[in-house]
Amino acid sequence: MKRIGVLTSGGDSPGMNAAVRAVVRKAIFHEMEVFGIYHGYQGLINGDIRQLELGSVGDIIHRGGTMLHTARCPEFRTEEGQLKAIEQLNNHGIEGIVIIGGDGSYRGAKALTERGYPCIGVPGTIDNDIPGTDFTIGFDTALNTVIDAIDKIRDTATSHERTYVVEVMGRNAGDIALWAGLAGGAETILCPEYDYDMDELIGKLNRGHDRGKKHSIIIVAEGVGSAVDVSRKIEEKAGVETRVTVLGHVQRGGSPSANDRVLASRLGARGVELLLDGKGGRAVGIEQNRLVDYDIIEALAKPHTIDKKMYDLSSELSI
Ligand code: ADP
Repeated sequence: MKRIGVLTSGGDSPGMNAAVRAVVRKAIFHEMEVFGIYHGYQGLINGDIRQLELGSVGDIIHRGGTMLHTARCPEFRTEEGQLKAIEQLNNHGIEGIVIIGGDGSYRGAKALTERGYPCIGVPGTIDNDIPGTDFTIGFDTALNTVIDAIDKIRDTATSHERTYVVEVMGRNAGDIALWAGLAGGAETILCPEYDYDMDELIGKLNRGHDRGKKHSIIIVAEGVGSAVDVSRKIEEKAGVETRVTVLGHVQRGGSPSANDRVLASRLGARGVELLLDGKGGRAVGIEQNRLVDYDIIEALAKPHTIDKKMYDLSSELSI
């Protein structure tokens, strides 16, 4: 391939810029031309496409968000939208694209793949919910944002001897909740992957209180439901006062961590290598610190799992 495109789609994540930079620089290093597709699939349909040079991606490696912007595009779910997109790509002479995004964006890449257009999926989402990779770009940064918040909440929780319920993002995945809960020393972590028992949760709160614990922190993944509902149930059943913090979109922003920048650079560059070899329809990832790639259709069919041993450990360490 001599001319490729790159786009970011769906929810943004810190490190997307580093991935775009890697795609552009790696492609130019191999004497390919690179076109940036702005505003995700919407921009692809509309032809919002411009050539990128080495300097176009200067000074972005440390910035959150995405310089290509992103969008949600219902039209791309339709046959008509997908055909318009392929027409735009053909008109620009773009032979393959790297798509950086979450599972929705991957479904878009799958749709293009099924229509015979070469795409590479690069996992860019804070949710860590993409099959075929241990980590997604942005997860580590989001986790650090959550930990920073939990540490601060812990200070005030201790002063006031209160129970705090903290809601974190992750869509249908509990990775952010699990990792942040373990790293932040939370008493209880509620993940969508595992049912929780309110009586058990309250028993743990009471046991902690009886042994003189000054505060409790309960992490609720958004996929479980609202932290407000969880806190209301705790107040009703346990008769304790609680406070709720919904962290929201702060988790999606900020300068990417070193890990996310390195991961984005490696995955973005790997995507270009695959296109150089004429391979499309692949999803790149990292497993046990090794770069891997899978058939994107097969990867999407795999269920997302979280580490049960880590989940059990979090319970054992917070008895
Ligand atoms: P994310 O990529 O962060 O999971 P979304 O789920 O919003 O974000 O998906 C991003 C975009 O991907 C959607 O707005 C849509 O344009 C495209 N997309 C999602 N699902 C499909 C699908 N089944 N077929 C084609 N395109 C899809």
